[in-house]
Amino acid sequence: MRLFDTLTRTDKQLAPIDGKTYRFYCCGPTVYGPAHIGNFRTFVLQDVLRRTLETSGIPTLHVRNITDVDDKTIRDSRAAGQSLSEFTRGWTEKFHADCAKLGLLEPHIEPSAVEHIPQQVAMIEALLKKGHAYASHDGSVYFKISSFADYGKLSHLDTRELDLGKTQNERANADEYGKDNVSDFVLWKVRRPEDGDNFWPSPWGEGRPGWHLECSAMIKEYLGDTFDLHSGGVDLIFPHHDNELAQSACSCGGDFAKHWFHITHLLVDGGKMSKSLGNLYTLADLEAKGYTAMEVRYVLIGGHYRKQLNFTLDSLGAAHEALTKLAKGAAKLADNMGSEEVFLDVADFGPFRPAWDSLMADLNTPAAIGHLFTGLKHSSHLLGKEAAAALAGFNRVLRALGLSLPEEKSTDIPADIAKLAAKRWQARIDNDWAASDALRDELKAKGWVMKDGKEDYTIEPA
Ligand code: AMP
Ligand code: ZN
Repeated sequence: MRLFDTLTRTDKQLAPIDGKTYRFYCCGPTVYGPAHIGNFRTFVLQDVLRRTLETSGIPTLHVRNITDVDDKTIRDSRAAGQSLSEFTRGWTEKFHADCAKLGLLEPHIEPSAVEHIPQQVAMIEALLKKGHAYASHDGSVYFKISSFADYGKLSHLDTRELDLGKTQNERANADEYGKDNVSDFVLWKVRRPEDGDNFWPSPWGEGRPGWHLECSAMIKEYLGDTFDLHSGGVDLIFPHHDNELAQSACSCGGDFAKHWFHITHLLVDGGKMSKSLGNLYTLADLEAKGYTAMEVRYVLIGGHYRKQLNFTLDSLGAAHEALTKLAKGAAKLADNMGSEEVFLDVADFGPFRPAWDSLMADLNTPAAIGHLFTGLKHSSHLLGKEAAAALAGFNRVLRALGLSLPEEKSTDIPADIAKLAAKRWQARIDNDWAASDALRDELKAKGWVMKDGKEDYTIEPA
């Protein structure tokens, strides 16, 4: 499989470093409110990457963290009058419920920042020891970006943007900041009154870790100093991932991530989602409007991950029709295969090979979906073993995309009728109108009518 890599800006082949298991990390949600469908675009695409690797026969180790301490979780838990753990537990549970509905596989490991404070403290100690960090007089500790020649290499910051003159006076104490504020960033934040009860002991006094540190520490714990792939939405490239890279490279050695997978943002109605515009949708909002989680998933994978995707409510309506059509096509193959079973080997996708090849070429989900429809169109005349093989290939691609289809009742069409209908459809494809008419009459005599669509047909009792 080939995938675009943010660091080298090239398509690279994916293969596990250890020759066995593909080990990857995804920055998880900040649990201070419901995740929105933009967040889920990123999580769903990461899930498709994992499912595709697993379908191709490569086992994975998927680590995705929970950010349960930062400026926002502390601010909002205090406003809600809840303890930080009570507050973040509630939002974590809601996140998990949404993930299950959207068909996301559970990560193998889901560590939380609060549960890994000692590992974060140890990483700061290592950075101080090696001269990559310094403690300020108030007890906060900062990463010294001038000590790491490669700082900013992931986001391709040039030296002009790296205004090192700022570092001593305008250090970034906030968890989030933009490229305009490149500066030394905080590793340990000294306790402040607005933190309430949320502080931990450290050699530099009471406080809490800076946001960027948690991922570096948890990656070291569960994936080691060099691992296969790191991922998040494009907004994380800078500063979050550049800062993680700096912390890890300077404290651990190793290469950190061999591959960087970033998902472009979801837009809504052509613009940024925002509460004030009333277009920030959660899964619950869309379910309340009568849409299903699978329809949302279908829309989210309907665009290539490197392009912006514009979400509209109309696209959910179209998703409903598309999923129904896929379900009908699969039901027809199931009818046509009768009691045949086939066992395909890993490399075999039958008429759905182009769909699979699209996933192998930079995870092109929209192309894969397109090929599912054409594959169904070209296989609707298949019978017995051939229909069974086609259905197996179809289901394999569907599993990689993580789509489950609406229940489509099998019509219990007798095998001889299914066979006649398939033959007639093939005659039509071959423009053999005489044979097509004769077969239609034969079906009619047996009590069945065939209804021709543009790309497909249905059979019903007369
Ligand atoms: P957060 O909970 O804010 O830490 O974000 C969780 C994930 O969602 C991160 O990987 C973000 O980069 C990603 N994300 C945030 N907004 C969007 C969006 N509009 N489209 C796609 N991904 C997003
Ligand atoms: Zn992270």
